[in-house]
Amino acid sequence: MTGLAVAVVVAICALYQLPASPLARRGYAERPAVQATTSGPAVVPSERPVPPPKRAPVRITYPAQGTVSYGVLPGDPRIIGKGGRLMTFQIAIEGGINGVDRNALVQFVRATYGAPQGWASHGLWRFRQVGPGQAADFTLMLVTPATRDILCGGGYDRYTSCRIGDRVVLNVARWVHGVPNYGAPLTAYRQYMINHETGHRLGRGHELCPGPGRPAPVMQQQTLGLHGCTPYSWPYFNGIRYQGRLGQYNDAVPKGRGW
Ligand SMILES: [Zn+2]
Repeated sequence: MTGLAVAVVVAICALYQLPASPLARRGYAERPAVQATTSGPAVVPSERPVPPPKRAPVRITYPAQGTVSYGVLPGDPRIIGKGGRLMTFQIAIEGGINGVDRNALVQFVRATYGAPQGWASHGLWRFRQVGPGQAADFTLMLVTPATRDILCGGGYDRYTSCRIGDRVVLNVARWVHGVPNYGAPLTAYRQYMINHETGHRLGRGHELCPGPGRPAPVMQQQTLGLHGCTPYSWPYFNGIRYQGRLGQYNDAVPKGRGW
């Protein structure tokens, strides 16, 4: 990405504030844009071909509690999926979380919904990402651990993610660290957390492991335990809706600095 492109992307990622109450669904008040500045890599004149700069992955950093206000990313009119009910959604990041590649996050979420085994893959659901100030059926939010507790309720947790009302709340601690001994790469865990919490917004409850060695249903609480199942991130398996029996385990949320 050129320096100019970076500057443009940064400039359009204005911050908008959402109300903190989980009961407040819409009517997001706009806040003045917060401008950030950036500069691209220096251009060094040279006779020899210059190899492309190796960009070290930017580390995502976050405080225990962020600003409890959220920057909504620009929308994309391209509809994900070919049939079924259309759900509009926003993607928002809490202030205080730094180092998230916003474009990569957007592409990751969109690719997850549109994946061959994703929620939009079989004609039941379609998704369209809308931008700041536009009404949305839900907002997918990347938030700090303490803000997770404010939004989700239920007391001290700081570990899990949740869905509350029209908010699909992803805990940045899990986004960054995944869960210990999950048994699948971080990318798979990120796909799982998006699909699981979005699944709640689509009306799905928790499900149980269907049997030892079987893939875990996406609506199983895989963050807290696999119960003999293997990690699995998707609502479909080999093109068929993959579900377990309704129910949930009594797993404890890990104590301590899981975040
Ligand atoms: Zn859940």
